[in-house]
Formats: sequence, C-alpha cells, structure tokens
Amino acid sequence: MMINLTDMKTVRSILSRHGFHFSKKLGQNFLVRPDVVRAIAEASEIGEGSHVLEIGPGIGTLTQALARTGAEVTAVEIDQSLGRILSHTLEPYKNVHIIYDDVLKLDLNKLMGDKEWHVAANLPYYITTPILLHLVQSDLPISTFVFMMQKEVAERIMASPGTKAYGALTLAVQFYCTSEVVMDVPPSSFIPRPAVNSTVLKLVKRDKPAVEVKDTRLFFRMVKMAFGQRRKVFTNAMKAGGISAEQGKEILAACGIDGKRRGETFSMEEFASLADAWYDLIYKDKE
Ligand code: SAM
Repeated sequence: MMINLTDMKTVRSILSRHGFHFSKKLGQNFLVRPDVVRAIAEASEIGEGSHVLEIGPGIGTLTQALARTGAEVTAVEIDQSLGRILSHTLEPYKNVHIIYDDVLKLDLNKLMGDKEWHVAANLPYYITTPILLHLVQSDLPISTFVFMMQKEVAERIMASPGTKAYGALTLAVQFYCTSEVVMDVPPSSFIPRPAVNSTVLKLVKRDKPAVEVKDTRLFFRMVKMAFGQRRKVFTNAMKAGGISAEQGKEILAACGIDGKRRGETFSMEEFASLADAWYDLIYKDKE
C-alpha cells in the first residue's frame, strides 16, 4: 500500500506508532510538502535506467518520489532506528535499496562503479559542507546533485566576488559545477521546523573545471590563503601562507594584480592566474 508521507497526520501517526524520537544531532527535519518533494525529484533528471543516490532518506518521503520516476534508488541512512519505518513506507518500491551507514564513510567508488549517478538529498544541515565538498571534489561518476540546504549555504555557493558570502566554498563548488536555485523552502515545510530557511540547489558537474589551472592544489591553496586571512590585503595573506615577500611580489607582477587588494575580491580567473604564476615560480626555481 502507498503511504502519503507528505500528509502531516499520517507522518505523526507513523512516528508515534514506531516510538520514533527525532535526533537533532543527526539533523532530522523531515519534509512534508508535496510540491517540494516533487520539485527535487524532477530537478534530478532521473527516470528508468538512471541511478540515484539519496543521502539520509529519513522516513522515506523523498525516496518514494525518486522511486516513482522508475530510477534505481540507493539511499544511505546513518540512523538504524529508522529501519522498521523505512521497511514499512518503502515496501511497495522494489527499486529502492537502503544502506545503513555514514555517507562520509561509505566506499562510494565501490558502490557507484563506472555507471553515471545522480545525487538527491534533503541534507542534514550539521554536515552539509563536508558532504558537498566530499562529493563535488571527488572523481565519482556523478553528473547532477539536487540538494536542500540551509539558505545561507546556498547563498555562499552562488556568491559573487567582493560580497560577504563569497568564500572558499563558493570557489570549490563553482570550480567543478554550475549551480542554479530550484526553490526557496520555508521552515513550515518540515517536521520538526528548523530554525532556518532552506533552499533547493541544483549543481551540474562541469565536463572540465571552470578555469584551466596548471596545478589544482596550488589553486586551492591560494584560495585558502585569501579566505583564511580574509581581512588582510593579499600581499600579507600570502606571507602568512608561507610565500616570501619577494616571491609574492613576483607572482603579483606576473598576473598584474594589485597586492593591496583583499583576496575576497578576486574572481576565479584571478585565483587561477595567481596559482599558475606561483607554479611557474616554483618550477623555475627548480630548473
Ligand atoms: N530525506 C528525508 C526528508 O526529506 O524528509 C530526511 C531528511 S533529514 C534533513 C536528514 C537525514 O539524514 C536524517 O534521516 C538523518 O538521520 C540522516 N543523516 C544524518 N547524518 C547522516 C550521515 N552522515 N550519513 C547518512 N545519513 C545521515
């Protein structure tokens, strides 16, 4: 029998029947708005023959919508106490496979193999950034991510240079993915209500990074220097990051960038040229 998990009364009755207690620590805020659940499933671009990974199925609300597309759904849930509820709510869906584990510890390479995957989730907010970075920066064969997250995190991902929200997270995600807002979601769409507003974001993995760099690690080290020392002018941030004053001058001169600017004003292209100038300097010194 299909169970409507976007009906508040049904959800409350299932939870109380199984004596379930929400864990705040695990970020358990369950979605109860049908249009939001549908929007996430639709934005995931999945159907028969697709493979989708869901992170944190909770009581199975989004899982049902993903399964209805005909895709093969693998859902990873850390909380084993949801097991009895999930066997009940997902009983009619033979294309759903649940793994009880921490998504950050699971061997996703082994799980995904070389098939194309999509990822969908109403993310547990306490580990949104680690999960995002873990997946986006990996070599896993994932083409799209549709994630519900705290609105403020979505704003950081979409931010432009020079704004308060712009930071290492912006560059890490934009380097690998394009991003678009699917919808904003108010606290009343969940039980229990979270204290914050939420946004559903769709990220599409780029065929190649947004900017070409000689060494990705140096690019991200430059980014780390800029935002680790956000209030410092970049010349000083570089010094604090272990680049000597003399080398710093050479790097800036090679890119035509004013070292009195703060790193938080640099575009992705500017970080790329700084990283490449640093690379050239390191390898020139080694010749
Ligand atoms: N998908 C459900 C929904 O939309 O109603 C539940 C979303 S709830 C915000 C987040 C879910 O992630 C919870 O079920 C929680 O137990 C689970 N979770 C938390 N940390 C996790 C982790 N490290 N690995 C896998 N699941 C996790």
